[in-house]
Amino acid sequence: MTPWILLSIMKCVGLFEVIIVKVDISDIVKTDGAIIEIELVEKLKSLNFEAGSVTFNSPVRLAGRLMNVSGIISLKGYAETEYEVECYRCLKNLNRNIKVKLEEEFVSTKKDDGEAVYTYDSNLLDLDKVVVDSILLNLPLRQLCNEACKGFCPNCGTNLNEGSCSCKDEKINPQMEKLKDFFKFN
Ligand SMILES: [Zn+2]
Ligand SMILES: [Zn+2]
Repeated sequence: MTPWILLSIMKCVGLFEVIIVKVDISDIVKTDGAIIEIELVEKLKSLNFEAGSVTFNSPVRLAGRLMNVSGIISLKGYAETEYEVECYRCLKNLNRNIKVKLEEEFVSTKKDDGEAVYTYDSNLLDLDKVVVDSILLNLPLRQLCNEACKGFCPNCGTNLNEGSCSCKDEKINPQMEKLKDFFKFN
């Protein structure tokens, strides 16, 4: 993972509007090997990140299992939602679906030495951050309405999917753009 992605995630989390989802883990927190099955629906609203803005119109559906593994709570499951994003080249609205695997561990705040990514506090475990992080990490950075999308003419602004313009030599070559992205990220 590049530092760039990490940075944009840290900047974004504050923009999420989230209904805080806390799971009561008092039934499993004292018993090694104990399990809770979870099935939740949580709402995320919109989010801006460096590659564009993403709107979450439907709630996130989350299903999985929390298990006490020697005092560490392990989460295994899936989160799924639909979202709206603009095509990177032509700005057309796209409705997309994302399903992410959740596989994380929560350390008690009492035992955390500052290294744990996710923690739980006594009997409550907060799932928001895990869900937000997992979705952000798995969102494609450049979303296209279609691989062959021609985008706008950089010269006159014509949408080249809808028609051509007279500035022939200035047309964006999708292959060239891919190459440009390749060098940017490698
Ligand atoms: Zn497009
Ligand atoms: Zn043009």
